[in-house]
Amino acid sequence: MPRAVVIGAGASGLTAAIHCAARGYEVTVVDRQAHPGGLLARFQRGRARFDVGVHYLGGVGPGHVFGRILRHLGVFGDLAFQPLDPDGFDLLRFPGFEFAVPVGMDAFAERLADRFPAERDGIRRVVARLREAVEGYGIADADGRTDLDIVRTVEGEPLLGLLDRHLRDARLRAVLSAHAPLYGVVPAEAPVGLHAIVLYHFLEGACRVRGGGDALAGALVRRLEALGGRLLLRRRVVGLEVAGRRVDRVVLHDGTELPADLVVTSLHPAQVLDLLSPGVLRPAYAKRVRGQRVGLGHMGIFLELDGVPRSLVRRNLYSFSSLDPTRFLDDMVDQPQPFYFASAAEPAEEGAPWTVVLTTPLGWERVAAWADTTPGRRPEAYRRLKDALATRVLDRFYAENPEIREQVVAVHSSTPLSTAFFTGAPRGAMYGHYHSVDQMGVYRPPQFTRVRGLVQVGQVVFAPGVLGAMLSVYYGLGRLPGFEGLFDEMRRAG
Ligand SMILES: Cc1cc2nc3c(=O)[nH]c(=O)nc-3n(C[C@H](O)[C@H](O)[C@H](O)COP(=O)(O)OP(=O)(O)OC[C@H]3O[C@@H](n4cnc5c(N)ncnc54)[C@H](O)[C@@H]3O)c2cc1C
Repeated sequence: MPRAVVIGAGASGLTAAIHCAARGYEVTVVDRQAHPGGLLARFQRGRARFDVGVHYLGGVGPGHVFGRILRHLGVFGDLAFQPLDPDGFDLLRFPGFEFAVPVGMDAFAERLADRFPAERDGIRRVVARLREAVEGYGIADADGRTDLDIVRTVEGEPLLGLLDRHLRDARLRAVLSAHAPLYGVVPAEAPVGLHAIVLYHFLEGACRVRGGGDALAGALVRRLEALGGRLLLRRRVVGLEVAGRRVDRVVLHDGTELPADLVVTSLHPAQVLDLLSPGVLRPAYAKRVRGQRVGLGHMGIFLELDGVPRSLVRRNLYSFSSLDPTRFLDDMVDQPQPFYFASAAEPAEEGAPWTVVLTTPLGWERVAAWADTTPGRRPEAYRRLKDALATRVLDRFYAENPEIREQVVAVHSSTPLSTAFFTGAPRGAMYGHYHSVDQMGVYRPPQFTRVRGLVQVGQVVFAPGVLGAMLSVYYGLGRLPGFEGLFDEMRRAG
């Protein structure tokens, strides 16, 4: 029986593991953390459970790409979904005006045109380009036949350039850039293609999974184990041995060696280089991968409530203090009124509280001085800084949502140090790679190297988000002998 070792039990690693197990591999998934899920994993404080890396997802209905993947993986029936408000699942708040985003690309375009009637033609052109981008990836009809010419151009074209070319009203450009925080690239550098697939996914039908990321990770693990795969937690991969240009073994921190015919890794490509002996990959490749910028860091603020946050039930809030998209992702320290994204989660268990999570950009360099300390033992100065930063965001949030202030019973927070500790991401980057126009398209980290039997998957090599992480497996594994037809199977799954 061929053996596959999957490094990382996040959304991408578990997806890959299930497909390997379903195709007859003996599968071992290894993760350095105590819980599976990677960014899907929740953390608990008292009775409250908080999501870190999944607040909402896109369509799961018939023909929707995310739903198809979940059905193909055999986990759909194990999950319960809570649709967000189809008439306004995201409330985009800017100085002086708000815009509620409805489900459906047509409905979205129509609402934009109603709100900005003088820009109807420009809106039509922008939406047509976004649709063309989605088609280029072969996602809409799930045939996976990427049109490389389209993908290269839409991954090399900056979002703001497209908007500036066709739209005059600054408010409209702000609305159409507002989802950039979902993938963490400044709109002037954000690829039109990335923006299009992220927006398309949520417009198909924004929803939450009951029980949050833990429920999704749990369903994936159960499916993997039902197929005979195994999961090793609290094991860190420290080496990847190659014999004659082919993967041979994965080495764990405790000295265990796992022989492998196929290795699927969801680590950042620079971290994969560190696992390999020097010289296994070409110096030019190593230089390019190590030279690329990693993505933005963030601060997470986690609120436990003793009531229902009415203004956030079934919808998220993006609150910008400027209309200028080039400032949307400025470090919160540099913003007089920091941007925040707010999302509320309904408790999955009887008697558990509602929670709200706020997210705001925060750079690694703000906390790098404490990089060598560990959670629970960080010095007082770090805690003071963290509290001061959280207070700045909360002051703004409470001023805009006064009813929630009265409901808060506990506040916790995280910084890029927490992300680095829990996921191993370089500089605590939310989405690993910085998916900018100069690092996507032809410059995107490759899924294959010259080491045979090694496949790179995850948000770091494709697109941020649970869908992006899962799709990377289809584009990666799908190209290997024995995995033909992965996209066709997914399409047939519904
Ligand atoms: C703050 C935040 C909010 C987000 N919100 C959303 C959202 O609302 N909707 C959405 O769709 N997406 C969201 N995302 C993105 C989404 O969570 C990720 O794109 C996705 O979960 C990434 O999955 P992955 O498998 O690529 O990586 P990861 O989940 O990071 O998995 C990598 C795994 O590798 C393990 N690992 C690392 N190094 C080693 C090693 N040496 N040995 C063994 N194991 C190792 C890590 O422990 C981790 O489990 C959010 C992300 C962040 C940070």
